[in-house]
Amino acid sequence: MSNIEIICTACGQESLLKRMPKYDGFKKMGESLTCTSCGHEYADEAEVPFTHQCKPKVFDDSDAPRIAKVFQESEAECLCRHCKHYVVNPFIQRCSRHGKTVEATDTCRNFEKKPVPKL
Ligand SMILES: [Zn+2]
Repeated sequence: MSNIEIICTACGQESLLKRMPKYDGFKKMGESLTCTSCGHEYADEAEVPFTHQCKPKVFDDSDAPRIAKVFQESEAECLCRHCKHYVVNPFIQRCSRHGKTVEATDTCRNFEKKPVPKL
């Protein structure tokens, strides 16, 4: 029988679990699970502080925060021609927000990205 390592909750020692069958007369009643250091008896296996028990994974890969894809617009992309307020007609380009003529390569603080048309 292999030694089962525990960290005893009663004596706090790294210890070994002593597993002994319990009998009531000739009838096996279960097992007694005791600490070999201090003799503390555990009510059942769920209480046994196994050293190598499979601990529930606290961090699962699927729970790992996904690296948010931050869409970083460079300043070069805040051009009027990418702005939803940008209006082009055959003669002038203008900003519908400011009501003024703009250049396609202008930038402004009120830049709002033009929604990408759904194809
Ligand atoms: Zn103990």
